[in-house]
Amino acid sequence: MPPRTCALCDDARAILKRPKTGQQICKECFFYVFETEVHNTIQESQLFKRGDRVAIGASGGKDSTVLAHVMKALNERYDYGLELFLLSIDEGITGYRDDSLETVKRNQQQYDMPLKILSYDELYGWTMDAIVSQVGKKNNCTFCGVFRRQALDRGAAILNVDHIVTGHNADDIAETVLMNIMRGDIARLGRCTSICTQGEDTIKRSKPFKYAYEKEIVMYAYFKKLDYFSTECIYSPDAYRGHARVFLKDLEAARPSAIIDIIHSGEAFEVKDDVKATQKIQRTLPHLFASILSKGDSLLEICKRCGYMSSNELCKACTLLEGLERGLANAAIVRALSPLFV
Ligand code: SF4
Ligand code: ZN
Ligand code: ZN
Repeated sequence: MPPRTCALCDDARAILKRPKTGQQICKECFFYVFETEVHNTIQESQLFKRGDRVAIGASGGKDSTVLAHVMKALNERYDYGLELFLLSIDEGITGYRDDSLETVKRNQQQYDMPLKILSYDELYGWTMDAIVSQVGKKNNCTFCGVFRRQALDRGAAILNVDHIVTGHNADDIAETVLMNIMRGDIARLGRCTSICTQGEDTIKRSKPFKYAYEKEIVMYAYFKKLDYFSTECIYSPDAYRGHARVFLKDLEAARPSAIIDIIHSGEAFEVKDDVKATQKIQRTLPHLFASILSKGDSLLEICKRCGYMSSNELCKACTLLEGLERGLANAAIVRALSPLFV
């Protein structure tokens, strides 16, 4: 049987089956459709404007490494006019993050982008290794998630960027939709599908890979021979997400469009409410101005310990830190995650 030709260019030999569509195509066409779909996502959501300074949240893993590669390629090909940076957070996880940061340092050379690394140790005085030795492996991701969010904001402020992009892909978002359905959390269900989010902080965050399949990201990294780090975090115990992941992979095997279908289902729950409008006002106000206006208005306060934007006296990170310092970590988690915290 003669070799099958590419379904897109009808010219070269097909060497791969595209996970998203099942089409048999050549390598060059795969690169082109993958990159063009990301470009279309960026254009349709008007993620950037000329002159934006954009930090790529870089972990050294496949998603953020492919994101850095594709952002650089698209910025040059379509002349977005962006200034790109790499921003990495060192959680202090021996045998995991120290190795993956070496990959990011090589990426800095390969992509010729300035790199800023910020550590939990320098920001909070705690590494994840130390936190796990105190709280165990059950709630560690709660600490890590709250600390990372704030660390990225602080890094963005140091780099003076307007925007942080992260490598969250379609599978990640579909998993989160499933988890929110299982928890019956309708408010989060809609919010988790937004391509662009801004919370109580001032930095815009977005996910240009919102519609990119994980399998295609891996394929892209493999065929482009990108330099990335593939080990999982040694403290990754998120069993609940693990169940959602396995379920999603089963659905994908039965019908590849299941991932996009689930994201569209979540999008149908997106609500535009007054809270969003309030947050928008917050974002446009510099911290100091916000603090003057905040007298008597709990939505516009600043954390009394670290100065980070907060809806309570202490921000979530400082609430967790005080719990750690007093050896009352579990009580602090309950407080930091209480619905009274906006
Ligand atoms: Fe942090 Fe948990 Fe991710 Fe490890 S798996 S990096 S502890 S959030
Ligand atoms: Zn082709
Ligand atoms: Zn604080």
